[in-house]
Amino acid sequence: MAETGDLRELYQDVILDHGKRPRNFGAVAAANRRAEGDNPLCGDHLTLTLEVAGGRVADAGFEGAGCAISVASASLMTDTVKGLPVAQAEELFRRFHRLLTADDAAAAGDDAEALGKLAVFAGVREYPIRVKCATLPWHTLMAALAAADTTAAPTVSTE
Ligand code: ZN
Repeated sequence: MAETGDLRELYQDVILDHGKRPRNFGAVAAANRRAEGDNPLCGDHLTLTLEVAGGRVADAGFEGAGCAISVASASLMTDTVKGLPVAQAEELFRRFHRLLTADDAAAAGDDAEALGKLAVFAGVREYPIRVKCATLPWHTLMAALAAADTTAAPTVSTE
């Protein structure tokens, strides 16, 4: 079982690394989508800006403050969706959400494979109160993608 322990440690390392040194921190200069995310239970708050062009997420950035899990999730999420077609980003959201919330272990296994690096958050399933920290950036992403422009700027709350 040493391998499982090492893997868990690796996952924790990735989350700690992205929590401490978040990638894509800051507003996107050419942003044409914006949304705010709020998780009052933990105090996580982020503003997500996107540049969507030609049906793709051309650029993504976030600002705000929160716990290590929410910051790491926003960091890994922005890293992953940059350059992806919008439909593929939406598909990742569905898989990510299912990985963290679904009871179906077999489906979660499939999702973990499809999610690649994002699967480091699979362990958060065991801490229901932290699930909202990890999914907040993704709910905010969906709201931003659904917004018509930056003036719409919807706010997502996990409560
Ligand atoms: Zn949190």
